[in-house]
Amino acid sequence: MRSDIVDFLVKLLCKSCFGRTAQPTTVGLCLPKKVSLDTGHARATYLNTNNDFLPLTAKMEGLGKKEESVATVETDAAAASAMISVTDLTSYMYCPRLLFQQKVLGYEEKLNPAMVLGGIRHKFYDLTNKYEEALVVHLPETSREIILEAYSKSYQNLLRHVVASHSNSLALFDIAPEEVVAKLQPIAAAEAGERAENVYSFAAKSSVFGKELWQMLSPKILSELKVKSPMLRLKGTVDRVEIHPNTILPIELKTGKMPSDGVWPSHRVQAAAYMMLLQEKFNTAVTKAVVRYLDHNSSKTVVLNPYMELEVKELTEKVVRLLQGNTEPKPCGRVNCNCTR
Ligand code: SF4
Repeated sequence: MRSDIVDFLVKLLCKSCFGRTAQPTTVGLCLPKKVSLDTGHARATYLNTNNDFLPLTAKMEGLGKKEESVATVETDAAAASAMISVTDLTSYMYCPRLLFQQKVLGYEEKLNPAMVLGGIRHKFYDLTNKYEEALVVHLPETSREIILEAYSKSYQNLLRHVVASHSNSLALFDIAPEEVVAKLQPIAAAEAGERAENVYSFAAKSSVFGKELWQMLSPKILSELKVKSPMLRLKGTVDRVEIHPNTILPIELKTGKMPSDGVWPSHRVQAAAYMMLLQEKFNTAVTKAVVRYLDHNSSKTVVLNPYMELEVKELTEKVVRLLQGNTEPKPCGRVNCNCTR
């Protein structure tokens, strides 16, 4: 019974791993033999109401779709183009010259391995969140261990699919997909553990399962949530947002070094900007954000205050002025930095 349940849940996330097309890898997992696309979308599937496996992208495309008039779309597009992105603020903090070169002069940032790995990570988290409803609805009324096993196996399979869907980009840097799967496995395991525990403890408290469990589950987690505000002149995508009954918590997922105290200044600005954007979107106070340093398995809280809000507004003003102007900032002379263009 136990393995049947797990198999069923795994199939929800991974049609290719039924054993027909998969091949074992050195890390003891399997990867699809053929990967023809490198679109950044996993070749995962979901189960619709007719019990057919459909491409995940079909489900994703249907999410949040609504009928919009041409006029509305055009107005939205015009408003969006007048806004800068939150990442422009942090890019400006690092180097106004590079930001100007990219946004005004059109210099493209060269693809590098860190960008590819970052994209894989983001896509993995995005898909785990988008799949959670299907997973929760089909969970059996059972123990913590079985729920954890279902999450773990499903997320490991999803990770393999996401990595496989980036195999062309990885090949540009001679990086084997198996290597990336092995590197990111702990992240997938941690994510599975956290979500399984959240679901198990809520189900144990409320004694509900299936659709009812999903409907009542709290917190609900949204990922890659797009936010924008013509008033703030900002737009962006929040890595993760937890919707609690009385509060909303944005979470930024970061790789790389972590400061010994607090968060990096650019992460503080990003967190503050997203809190301000979410406040407007949900029309409620959003006063705390979390920056999660994935490589250190550590989360730090940022509390919004008026100084931070002012900092975001002043930075926005500076970036808008830079991007609307025609003056390329001069090299600043930072040591070990590349100002060749
Ligand atoms: S040295 Fe050049 S690239 Fe580096 S931060 Fe300064 S202006 Fe930017």
